[in-house]
Amino acid sequence: MSLRTTGIVMPLAMLLLLAPAAPAQEPPPPEAPSGRAEREAVTASRHMIVTANPLATEAGEAILARGGSAVDAMIAAQLVLNLVEPQSSGIGGGAFLLHWDEQAGELTSFDGREKAPMAATPELFMAGDGTPMAFADAVPGGRSVGVPGTLALMELAHRLHGRLPFAELVAPAVRLAEHGFEISPRLAGAIADSAAELAVFPATRAYFLDTDGKPRAAGTVLRNPEFAATLRQIAKEGSAPLYRGRIGDALVETVRSAPVNPGAMTRQDLADYRVVMRPPVCRPYRAYEVCGMGPPSSGGVAVLQVLGLLEHFDLPSLGPTADGMQALVEASKLAFADRNLFLADDDFVSVPVRGLLDQAYLTSRAQQIRLDSSIEKAVAGNPPWREAGLLAPDDSDKLPGTSHLVVVDDDGNAISMTTTIESGFGSRMMVGGFLLNNELTDFSFAPEEGGRPVANRVQPGKRPRSSMAPTIVFDEAGEPVLLIGSPGGSQIIGYVAQALVAVLDWGMSPQEAVAMGHVLSRNGPAELEAGTEAAAMEEALRSRGQEVQVKPLNSGLHAILIGDETLESGVDPRREGAARGQ
Ligand code: GLU
Repeated sequence: MSLRTTGIVMPLAMLLLLAPAAPAQEPPPPEAPSGRAEREAVTASRHMIVTANPLATEAGEAILARGGSAVDAMIAAQLVLNLVEPQSSGIGGGAFLLHWDEQAGELTSFDGREKAPMAATPELFMAGDGTPMAFADAVPGGRSVGVPGTLALMELAHRLHGRLPFAELVAPAVRLAEHGFEISPRLAGAIADSAAELAVFPATRAYFLDTDGKPRAAGTVLRNPEFAATLRQIAKEGSAPLYRGRIGDALVETVRSAPVNPGAMTRQDLADYRVVMRPPVCRPYRAYEVCGMGPPSSGGVAVLQVLGLLEHFDLPSLGPTADGMQALVEASKLAFADRNLFLADDDFVSVPVRGLLDQAYLTSRAQQIRLDSSIEKAVAGNPPWREAGLLAPDDSDKLPGTSHLVVVDDDGNAISMTTTIESGFGSRMMVGGFLLNNELTDFSFAPEEGGRPVANRVQPGKRPRSSMAPTIVFDEAGEPVLLIGSPGGSQIIGYVAQALVAVLDWGMSPQEAVAMGHVLSRNGPAELEAGTEAAAMEEALRSRGQEVQVKPLNSGLHAILIGDETLESGVDPRREGAARGQ
């Protein structure tokens, strides 16, 4: 069975209006929305790639056209993204990759998440007075930098599933870094928004600001010879220069001697970094099997919980109405309550994944959902097979940066990968022409609450909890039918869950699903996307007991629908993404 879209046409989303300022306690989004540009779906029959930037998509498609594998295309695209969308992802950060091997009929997940250095303590982000640091104070400098994983992930994936030589995959990024690329409007906006913070670090300032300290403008041709040199070393020696060589030495030096928040990473931390291949988390949803990323991401488990709760409602008949959205919001609250309490790196704490996805458990949780009234704030449940002991929740908000890409190659291998340096511009520090992540701020700043430990507290060598939710949906025959994921911090979970429902239950095309106005909740207010049809639900949801916030919701959903004969793209109109295929 393949997914056939029924051609329901959603009301055309209105232009994204600039929404009212966020309430005072919430930090502003690091990357302002760059406006909507409606997209036409692209179709292809042999292969396709969708990324957040046309240059990255072009590089990946050229590799696919030369017979490269999905992994080959991902590597070429990721390295170009590192250059042209530097604020969001790159070899200074981490990533989760879901890989479908068509011939072997096997789905694997690669965990290239950043790690805390061995010298990190649970009090890493506690201020001297025993209170958690302010988020914005913790981001810049060396303290927030996790041991990066993206390059190691690409290398391992290439060893297992690559077809073209690694050096060939690096070449497009080298060329662009040397000859220059035009700063996109989105990157220019991000630079302008963060100019003061970027100016603190000399290498970052010199790259993103001009000699007068003014943000470089859209259309400016930017060259990055330092990154070209880094890439040339990588083309020759693989990941060794970063994990055991000169680039790594410079990285450690930069982190340790940061002018603000010096960090404690060592060369040993880099040398010890390993990508972990983990079993993906999967659950049936109606006629499908939905698979995502397990811990240390909370994304897969939370998305699957939302779907498992929604299965108790007739979403296909409810449609994208206020009742349908009410069910989605309430399911999300229940999932977030569990996520905040239980989800963390399960190499360090016991995460009851099986219990959280258990049918009977979700059926009992679903009893709390009403279409005419709200739970307001959900309380975490008591899933089976959980370890005894009380935990305190980590319900901190996180700021979005990050990128999602999807690929299908000529042989039917498929990739769904979310890649990140955490906040826009990460820790704001550059080494070898690339930015370093601030992923450690995804840990809970407070290690405990009222004597109860937080599962997601900082521990040496641990990976911070993520919300990234690269997803692959399979049909009854076990064939992949939909690849999807998004950036957006903890809102990723809502973006992905809603888009899955839109395609699987409401029969929307992937393009309609990613363009649809967002409705989500992180166990607080219902969050509705300003300037879209979602905002029109404000009163209807209030009358169902929701506290409602209407605001910009800056997703970057990228999807491919895999039909019997055709591949069909979904490109988020809120960013600069592009799809290409043949
Ligand atoms: N660092 C976040 C996470 O891993 C992702 C940030 C984002 O998506 O923008 O959940």
